[in-house]
Amino acid sequence: MNGPVEKTHLKALSRAGLEAWVTGLGEKPYRARQLWKWLVPRGASSFSEMTDLSREFRARLEAAAEIRSLRRVSADRSGDGGAVKFLWECPDGNRIESVFIPEADRRTVCVSSQVGCGLGCAFCATGRLGFSRNLESWEILDQVIGVRRETGEAPTNIVVMGMGEPFLNYDAVMDALAVMNDPEGLAIGHRKITVSTSGVIPGLLRFTEENRPYKLAVSLNAVTDVLRTRIMPVNRKYPIAALMEAVRAYSRAPGRRVTFEYVLFAGLNDSREDAARLLALLRGLPCKVNLIPYNPAVGGFQRPDEGRVERFLEWIKPLRSPVIVRWSRGADIGAACGQLAGSGPERVDPPPMESEAPDISLRSDLARRRGARSQEAAVSRKASSAETGGAGSRKPGKRTGGGAS
Ligand code: SF4
Repeated sequence: MNGPVEKTHLKALSRAGLEAWVTGLGEKPYRARQLWKWLVPRGASSFSEMTDLSREFRARLEAAAEIRSLRRVSADRSGDGGAVKFLWECPDGNRIESVFIPEADRRTVCVSSQVGCGLGCAFCATGRLGFSRNLESWEILDQVIGVRRETGEAPTNIVVMGMGEPFLNYDAVMDALAVMNDPEGLAIGHRKITVSTSGVIPGLLRFTEENRPYKLAVSLNAVTDVLRTRIMPVNRKYPIAALMEAVRAYSRAPGRRVTFEYVLFAGLNDSREDAARLLALLRGLPCKVNLIPYNPAVGGFQRPDEGRVERFLEWIKPLRSPVIVRWSRGADIGAACGQLAGSGPERVDPPPMESEAPDISLRSDLARRRGARSQEAAVSRKASSAETGGAGSRKPGKRTGGGAS
């Protein structure tokens, strides 16, 4: 006796793969283009939405294929400016998180690349979870499609900085980014996509050799091997000198400027000596530095006060590279840097699974907050127009999404 026929998981197919599958059904290639448009740019989650496909073709699709999607479990809104942390459930029951950060001039999604993470950074809630599995490329992409569906807003920027180390899931991450960047996909410009690594050198070298067009961020966080190994065990395998050599190789091509993330921990890596070492390490390198005052998560570290952050900023002024203080948004919902771990207060109840209706309250609330922030930004720009620029921004500076690496 024959068992049930396994249906084709359409979102797991590339654009070329989808075309081959559709033509294999005896359909014309333009049918595949129509289907792709529904699955990716329009983010359809059922065949019934695909109203420009003939009834007959839709029936064939229903019989032979399926559309799997991440299920939204919850959406937590932060009270400090509109970041939204999404908790998703994968078809196998694993749960991952993404963060949506709407600002006046951009809408960023911070996506996860793995379920948990095996690198165990001492300050990171994700690291405490341990590693479960790599995400498939469609699961990485579907976070962005899901955020767009839930918020009604098209993301403009992507940071792969959520749960997991992207260079340890290299192929799936690059496949997902290719679709995000594809003009026929999500059409997000390659300069608006950033991959953030904790310093996994083989991945960084491959990223360089393959001349990937996306921006690169390196989570540095310490300037001595002793301290970096203590807070980021990956440093034992890939110590600072080797990491910096790989970063310099990456930076040799014109137009490449790496961003260094430096989480500031009070009394641990924020001394004058640390600043001097950081200057020495980055001297002559085309780079940007993001200083991120630590967001309480795990490990018993302390967040430096504003005075300490300002002092550190002053000490690294001779760097002559852009330095930005990122007071991460979403700390109150566990969506700030290093906090993603699948929990948070004030969950928003998900809509019924069978409903295709958008979450109007979430959408309208985001629109209202963005409107209010645009006004605030205009007022603050006016007020500060006479001020001269320092080495970095003052609070509130630009901010990161959820993530980690
Ligand atoms: S900071 Fe990044 S690399 Fe480190 S444990 Fe967290 S997710 Fe993993």
